[in-house]
Amino acid sequence: MVKGRGASVSGAGIMRGFAFAGLVLLTGASQLWALNLVTPESPPLAVFLLACGPVFLAMAVISIYSRTEISHQLSRLTKAAERAASGDHSAIETVSGVREVRELGSAISNMSSYLRKNMAQAFELAYVDRTTELPNREFFRKELTRAISKTIRKGSTGALLFVDLDGFKHVNDTYGHDVGDMVLHQVSRRLTNILRAEDLIGLKPGVELAQSITDEEGDESQVSRQMLARLGGDEFTVLLTETREATDAAIVSRRIIDVISQPFDIHGTQLSVGASIGIATFPHDGSDYQTILKSADMAMYKAKGSGKNTYRFYSETLNEEAARRGALEAGLREAVRSDNELVLHYQPKIDLEQGKPTAVEALLRWNHPRDGMRSPDSFLDVAESCGLMPTLGTWVVEEACRQIVKLEACGFLLPVSVNISIGQFEQADFADVVQSILAKTGAKPEMLNLELAEKVLMHNPDVVFHHITILKELGVTFSIDDFGVGSSNLKELCRLPLDQFKIDCSVIHLLDGDEAKQGATIFRTIMAVADSFGYETVAVGVETERQLRIIEKHGCRWAQGYYFAHPMPEEHLHDWLVTTLQGIEAKEPDADVVDPPSGSQVA
Ligand code: C2E
Ligand code: CA
Repeated sequence: MVKGRGASVSGAGIMRGFAFAGLVLLTGASQLWALNLVTPESPPLAVFLLACGPVFLAMAVISIYSRTEISHQLSRLTKAAERAASGDHSAIETVSGVREVRELGSAISNMSSYLRKNMAQAFELAYVDRTTELPNREFFRKELTRAISKTIRKGSTGALLFVDLDGFKHVNDTYGHDVGDMVLHQVSRRLTNILRAEDLIGLKPGVELAQSITDEEGDESQVSRQMLARLGGDEFTVLLTETREATDAAIVSRRIIDVISQPFDIHGTQLSVGASIGIATFPHDGSDYQTILKSADMAMYKAKGSGKNTYRFYSETLNEEAARRGALEAGLREAVRSDNELVLHYQPKIDLEQGKPTAVEALLRWNHPRDGMRSPDSFLDVAESCGLMPTLGTWVVEEACRQIVKLEACGFLLPVSVNISIGQFEQADFADVVQSILAKTGAKPEMLNLELAEKVLMHNPDVVFHHITILKELGVTFSIDDFGVGSSNLKELCRLPLDQFKIDCSVIHLLDGDEAKQGATIFRTIMAVADSFGYETVAVGVETERQLRIIEKHGCRWAQGYYFAHPMPEEHLHDWLVTTLQGIEAKEPDADVVDPPSGSQVA
């Protein structure tokens, strides 16, 4: 069609060319003829023809120029109209030219914007659920299909949550469908609020939907987001993409159940419903729309069968994993509440120059009623994901501050280091909390050292900077933990007023292993970075004499590790300090390192 039009336009151009050439020839001939005739006695016709020649010529040029310009504008409008017809409603550039052309331009522009609106309305009718204003089943089908194929292509994972309301039939039967619809609407608002709104697609129906559907290839970035849809009746679906692990879906499910279980206020009447959720993960439980939806639906029936208001995975392995995490979380909540299962163990930091312990690190332990002493690695993740970390972390800081005071009362002026997690540091009032603990316990701020892992520092450097600045003014010191395994941004590091680098265990263990040469290079590089920042360095995880010699050789002044002492409970720490310091005094002035005292190896 475009070709045909192009051909006819160029045909017209050729015709115009012939006409123009003819006109020039005619005008020239008449001019020559007129010139021959023009004498003082020439007839007025010859004079008239002579004068008119250039005028005709100019008119012909103007006419041809304006025809070319009109045809150029018309061709732009034709293209714009074709674009609008194919669904591209990008703004039409202003057209110039004669009034008729301008009018045609604005008519096409109006038509395009009407089309855009109509299309948005059409998509809204086709893809938006009227009761809840959420994307409907059809939109969901398209998005899930796209999400699955993208997830498989990228080698990542996703999850589909099939949410079915418990007790909704009762609401409908007792209060009528209008009230039921209002509950559904409120459910959709609550679900929208608990999912990360900025990641949700299909929230603004119409244009967004139209764009998303017409773009069959799909905007890649859109697919990695979350989606909430209403399938019909009291069934909703939540699509999660880029899930790190299956338990991410369990966390979202728990939040959904909590939020739906709150009563709904409909015109002053309090109504309650629940939610049973089935979870299918992809590609694990299937790699196409039908299979995954069916798996999630079946898992939802498992949840209903398990007493409702709960969630179940399609995969039994994941159900077991979720149950294990659920029990761990409940136990941890109880431990935090009861305040008698959590304990701190302390591991000395040795000043290699003075040859004696000059600080201790507080390390959290959970004395589980059934499993015995649990290491932090086995429960900190759960504490972080279920939001317990701020409470847990505050407990640790307070307990460590009490220890500072106790140690001082026993004559040991030793700073105590505390590990701080992302969840804690993200609390807006973190600095205030620490400040009030210092005031409450009477611990000297300069005796408190906070250890921040690289990932904590880099997570939100501005917030970190804010807290550090306030607490440094009080005298609290800061260490960067696990240095050498993360990816610190040196520019951010420069900005932060830190005191100490703690070099990670894994780097120290390289020093006398198979890759000793490589280990020594990494260690030297870290030492050089620390030196240029003017920070102290602590080697963590020193286990052997050889590791100790190497770190000393490279100028590392502080060390911590099983070579000197394992982390130990409070009661052992006091004895250990007494024994060790007495031993050093007895050996002085030759002593340059502290020998591992027997009986200090408390696991
Ligand atoms: P971290 O901060 O790197 O602590 C050092 C870990 O290395 C401790 O493990 C310690 O027991 C262990 N360690 C010390 N010397 C040696 C050694 O010579 N060889 C080996 N193989 N390991 C050694 P732990 O106590 O299991 O703590 C593990 C991690 O849990 C800590 O690593 C820290 O990141 C975190 N953590 C511990 N307590 C707390 C806490 O109260 N709050 C927070 N947020 N995290 C904590
Ligand atoms: Ca640490």
